[in-house]
Amino acid sequence: MKKVVKFGGSSLADAGQFRKAGDIIRADEARVYVVPSAPGKRFDGDTKITDLLYECYELAVKGEDFSVPFQSVKDRYSEIISELGLSLSLSEAFDGIEDKLRNAPEKDYTASRGEYLNGLIMSEFLGYEFIDAADVIFFDAHGNFDGDKTYPALGARLEGLSGAVVPGFYGSMPDGKIKTFSRGGSDITGSIVARACRAAVYENWTDVSGLLMSDPHVVNNPARIESITYKELRELSYMGASVMHEDAIFPVKSAGIPINIRNTNRPEDSGTWIVGNTARRSKYAITGIAGRKNFCSIIIAKDLMHSEPDFYRKVVQCFEENDIPLEHLPSGIDTMTVIVHESKFIEHEQGVLSRIMKFVEPESVEVEAGIALIAVVGRSMKSQTGTAARIFQALADARINVRMIDQGASELNIIVGVLNDDFEQAVNAIYNAFVKD
Ligand code: ASP
Repeated sequence: MKKVVKFGGSSLADAGQFRKAGDIIRADEARVYVVPSAPGKRFDGDTKITDLLYECYELAVKGEDFSVPFQSVKDRYSEIISELGLSLSLSEAFDGIEDKLRNAPEKDYTASRGEYLNGLIMSEFLGYEFIDAADVIFFDAHGNFDGDKTYPALGARLEGLSGAVVPGFYGSMPDGKIKTFSRGGSDITGSIVARACRAAVYENWTDVSGLLMSDPHVVNNPARIESITYKELRELSYMGASVMHEDAIFPVKSAGIPINIRNTNRPEDSGTWIVGNTARRSKYAITGIAGRKNFCSIIIAKDLMHSEPDFYRKVVQCFEENDIPLEHLPSGIDTMTVIVHESKFIEHEQGVLSRIMKFVEPESVEVEAGIALIAVVGRSMKSQTGTAARIFQALADARINVRMIDQGASELNIIVGVLNDDFEQAVNAIYNAFVKD
């Protein structure tokens, strides 16, 4: 059995954190493939290595002096190396990076060095083989991850190795240039490595003991989610819950490999399991609650709109032409409502509204801004009665006016729209209705 272990930036921020990661890896001989991030923040107000590297690039590309942030990068790594008592020298690597910054600065290459250098340290520290991600993780000419090329190459490279380190966050383009994933992308690398070697588990080590049922900035001390399905996680992440890069689910999902989110600072905690399917019931009738503010609804009314077969399509087209993603489309008999995020809508607002007036000739169009959407997510919902009743009773008891309701046919979630100002209270009311201490 093989496990892939990915450590986030805070888990490798200094030598002390490296030692914790080392202990975790050595505690289980199945933990053979390691994916490190770049060193993250050691304390509040500290700067991540990746951010320092982006700063170096921004200065270098303008021909300005980048020696201050670059020296900070070098100092951070040198400190880790000396405190771990390693004999590794990175001076050649530092010189190479500096040279490139001076002569031909490239953004992705520069940013990727955070993981590259940390990977070199990790491999020396563990005595595991170092595999440069540029040699095994590939992007196509358009910059999209190329699984067809990556999986066989990476799988073959890992085959038979009893310990390997693959730095996270980057790979290479067909022309050999380095390309990174978006920020937080080491999570994706971990998932790709897990899929390539058909790992039993993808362990994602971070600084929290798993996913919480709600945002701790909104709900005081929310309960931890013990297990969640990929689909539920998608719903919650889409509405703002974050513990991992959103795209990290896809490689392992199709291979049926579970993800275990763990806390480097509390390895005794079992964390959260993210799985394809499970017979485990979640402890509560719902798995989690997440939400986002600042949506607006556009309510289009026209008598007998249902007798116009292309009515919906035409309305949707008005948004599509302006590149505005639609969030929800709750409908009534003679009304159609389109929910969009304000940040995407406001700029094109007048264009969209006048287009709707002309294209479908409605009786009225009303716009209401300042709406928050709350997703109440749970795989157990479909086998239980009364979940919706509990949600709406809780909101009624808290005297919160519900502006919109949407339940997908999959019965995995119920979306409730409330005013922005009611958001925090609404989330707490729903949470308290399901989670009893
Ligand atoms: N170091 C990169 C970042 O800060 C990638 C990662 O940590 O996953 O975004």
